[in-house]
Amino acid sequence: MAIQRASRSAPGWTPETRRVGEWEVVALSDGHLRLDGGAMWGVVPATMWREWTPPEPDNTILMALRPFLFRRGPHVVLVEPGIGERWSDKWRRIYGIEHDGDVRRSLAALGLAPEDVTMVVGTHAHFDHVGAWVEEQDGRLLPVFPNARHILPQVEIEMALAGENPRSASYRADDVRPLLAAGLLEGVDGVVELAPDLRLHVLGGHSDGVSVVVVHEDGPEAAIFWSDVVPTVHHIQPPYIMAYDIDVVKSHEVRTAWLRRAAERGWLGCFYHDLDHAFARVKQTGRRFEAFPA
Ligand SMILES: [Zn+2]
Repeated sequence: MAIQRASRSAPGWTPETRRVGEWEVVALSDGHLRLDGGAMWGVVPATMWREWTPPEPDNTILMALRPFLFRRGPHVVLVEPGIGERWSDKWRRIYGIEHDGDVRRSLAALGLAPEDVTMVVGTHAHFDHVGAWVEEQDGRLLPVFPNARHILPQVEIEMALAGENPRSASYRADDVRPLLAAGLLEGVDGVVELAPDLRLHVLGGHSDGVSVVVVHEDGPEAAIFWSDVVPTVHHIQPPYIMAYDIDVVKSHEVRTAWLRRAAERGWLGCFYHDLDHAFARVKQTGRRFEAFPA
C-alpha cells in the first residue's frame, strides 16, 4: 500500500538496518526540527500538503534529522552527521529543535565511538545536515570525528564561508572552519568514488552543490540517500519543490531524472527528513510517482 500521510508526533528511534550488496546501511537519529509547512512545500497548495504532512496550529511540520551509517569492512561512513548541539535557546525555539535523538548516542547504540568513523559526508553544508560534525569544548570549536575524512562539495564550502548573501541564512561558517583548520575537510565536485561501490553525485538545485549518495549503483540492488533532493516520501512528484530551493528549474530537472532512475531500477531510498520512513521505494505510473515502505 502506498504511503499516504505523515504522523504528527515523533516515533521513537530504533536502529533500522538494510543490507545492500556488501554494504550495511543503518538509519540513525539526531533528533527532530520543525519548519514552516509553506516553506517545505513551495508552490504546493496548503489544502493538499496539509493532508500529507499535517501541521501544528503555528503551521510548522515536524521533520526527522536522520543521519545514515554505511558500513563495509574497514569503511565506517557517516552520511550527514545531523544538526548538532551548538544552538542557543532562541534558535532552538525558532527551528523547534528537539534532541530526542543524537548522532553520538545512535553510534554508541551500535557499539561505535566517534573515533571509529572513517569518513563523514555532507551532501551540502546547510546547518541542519552538518552542524553535528563540530562541537564546542571549553569555548573552542573542534571536530567531533577526529579520524574521519570529511567530504563536502567544494561549492558548499565556499557558500558556508561566503558571508552575507541571499543564501546565507542556511549556512554557518563555523560548521566548516574548524574542519579546515584541522586539515580534515576535502572539497569535491562531479562524481566521486567515496569507497568501493559508494558514490557521491554533486547535483545542485536545492543548493549550489546538493548531492546524493548511491550504494552499488551498477549492481542488481542499489540504494540512494536522497538528502534534500527529495526530503520526505511525500515530496516525490518532481514539481513538489521546497521554497528553500535556490534554483527551481535545476531542481525540477534533477528530481525528474533521479526519481525516474530510482523507480526504473527499484532503488531503495534513504530519507533524511521523513518523519516515519527511513527507507522507501518509489514507483512510477505515467508521470506520477508513488512511495512504498521498504
Ligand atoms: Zn535539510
